[in-house]
Amino acid sequence: MAKNYYDILGVSKGATDDEIKKAYRKLAHKYHPDKSGGDEAKFKEINAAYQVLSDQSKRQQYDQFGQTFEGGSGAGNGFSGFDFSGFQGFGGQNSGFEFGGEGFEDIFSNIFGGNSRARRRSRGTDIQVDVEISFAEMVNGIEKIIELYKRVVCDRCYGSGGEPQADMKTCPTCKGSGQVETMRRSLFGSFSQVSECPECHGEGKVYEKKCSKCGGDGRVKEEQKIKLNIPAGIADGQTMSMQGQGEAGEKGAPAGDLYINIHVLPHKKFKRKSQDILSTEFVPFSVAALGGKIEIETINGTLILKIPTGTQSGEIFRIKGAGVPELNGRGVGNQLVTVVVKVPKSLSREQKDLLERLKNQGI
Ligand SMILES: [Zn+2]
Ligand SMILES: [Zn+2]
Repeated sequence: MAKNYYDILGVSKGATDDEIKKAYRKLAHKYHPDKSGGDEAKFKEINAAYQVLSDQSKRQQYDQFGQTFEGGSGAGNGFSGFDFSGFQGFGGQNSGFEFGGEGFEDIFSNIFGGNSRARRRSRGTDIQVDVEISFAEMVNGIEKIIELYKRVVCDRCYGSGGEPQADMKTCPTCKGSGQVETMRRSLFGSFSQVSECPECHGEGKVYEKKCSKCGGDGRVKEEQKIKLNIPAGIADGQTMSMQGQGEAGEKGAPAGDLYINIHVLPHKKFKRKSQDILSTEFVPFSVAALGGKIEIETINGTLILKIPTGTQSGEIFRIKGAGVPELNGRGVGNQLVTVVVKVPKSLSREQKDLLERLKNQGI
């Protein structure tokens, strides 16, 4: 899961600009990659966090929407340029549901611009899930189905919150004005504040009868299956996002997004290094000396590796194309096999005699 920007800088959510700046300077100084003991990844993370938290409007957006707001390419997830359009949800009645064309930008301008007082219903919450895949699934890509218990658009009222065929009436809370006045007390005395009516969300009208299934909220909690196409080459710790697959918004407001944190389980034989797969194979010392063939394991089966005459322990053989595909699908890494020459532990009398003869010849 992507780390919280406040945690990265080690400040509280209520930190002042000055505190954020100080914390940033101290950490940037400490982790600068040019210094001994520097850490480039950490340095980048700190910078990403500071860029958002030092900018008042970005910070406000971040507080409201979380990491999502930086275009889904938050600190260090390295996903820019990758196209996730291959994702699709299925099942559940809200797949393919259109919210009357009200996109994320509209809701954004409603919240921050405040130009239209209607339609201020809250956007659905984002969902974060963790998915584990095996090393082989990481190399080959995998389709996974996950089940989420989440708020979906109510199939009785289609998100409107009113009983089907119910008429609209003037909102009893605001008497149709769409606004309510509340008294606030502060150090400087009390003052009245006008805010949006919580009952009708500024529309001045409500349904005569609330939907009997969702109670007027426009959404219900339901189990939903979502198909994930996890691309070959994804790295441990990367986050995939699916727009609109989070929780449904209140009364038809846009849905939140779904974030899938990928965890690649370690393999007992193989390790990943960038796009290459590393492995170790043992070779009998006679084969190493005379040359020959050994059977080796790759992630997708065995193959025969030719061992040249006079191979030394520790030599690395490259198997072209047997590595990890690049996420953009343009290339694939190699498998690098480190050969370890095996010295026999127990020998027959005859084998001992043969080796004695070699020993006498200085081999
Ligand atoms: Zn309903
Ligand atoms: Zn009202």
